[in-house]
Amino acid sequence: MRARLPHALLFHGPEGIGKAEFIEQFAQSLLCERPAADGHACGSCASCGWFVQQSHPDYRRVRPEALEDEPAEGEDGEGEKKAKSSKTPSKDIRIEQVRALTDFMNISTHRQGLRVVVLYPAEALNTASANALLKTLEEPPPGTVFLLSTHSLDRLLPTILSRCRKFALPMPDHAAALSWLQQQGVNEAEGWLREQGGAPLLALAAAESGSREDMDTLLKLLARPSVETALKTAERLAKVPLSALVSWQQRWLYDVLAFQLTGAIRYYPRYRSEVEQVAARVPSAQLLQVIKNANARKAVAEHPLSPKLFIEEMLLDYTACCS
Ligand SMILES: [Zn+2]
Repeated sequence: MRARLPHALLFHGPEGIGKAEFIEQFAQSLLCERPAADGHACGSCASCGWFVQQSHPDYRRVRPEALEDEPAEGEDGEGEKKAKSSKTPSKDIRIEQVRALTDFMNISTHRQGLRVVVLYPAEALNTASANALLKTLEEPPPGTVFLLSTHSLDRLLPTILSRCRKFALPMPDHAAALSWLQQQGVNEAEGWLREQGGAPLLALAAAESGSREDMDTLLKLLARPSVETALKTAERLAKVPLSALVSWQQRWLYDVLAFQLTGAIRYYPRYRSEVEQVAARVPSAQLLQVIKNANARKAVAEHPLSPKLFIEEMLLDYTACCS
């Protein structure tokens, strides 16, 4: 597509498969002065050098402040840095960040080539910043390419979607993801990968966080639900991201249903006997109702009125159907 690039490309697919890494490499290859025949950046021209050092004059990366928190490579004295930032970094892409692109796009390119903007995750755009971006996408300056990525297409404004060429990035196949994860030095890679639904970057992050404590707290309740434990568990899990909790529960329910139907367990082979017990006790019809409720809950997990109530309600609903 290099000969006739669209102004904006939107890559979408499940979380944790490497979409952001993909569009950054894509951006580097578009700016590269000597791209390889297969399209990859050469890694050695002046352009690639600037890109790698995050100083390419024709490139901008827009993402939430919360993602910028990682200390740059080779930088030390992180103690000082952490102490300085007392307020929580924003999870939104703010309007100031989008407006800052205007100056960038009004000056001519330094290398007489393309101007590339990478923006992710696009669902982090709030109403104000999405509208600001929309103005730019409506009247794109010549020679500018926007590369966006998202794992929730349904949370983007339809007007933004309609101005982007969309490409789906699929979940990598299990064997490839597994071998990549093993190369990263992850022990029990198979288990981590399954528990994260096959997404290698989520599996790596979970393995590096070193603990399955939160997930196990939830799974123990799902294995032996009671109202009293549900409330205690809700209390203990109050700080866990809600979308993760809902996903863990959805995978559990999937395992129980799949076990009833086929005798196979996909996500939590560690909990085989517990899955068997619940599968033996709870009728499929009831299970389907909880699955339906969980799917509905997933849609509101990003913006609950009260996280604690959200978790309590989720666990009590499960307990009512499955104990
Ligand atoms: Zn290059």
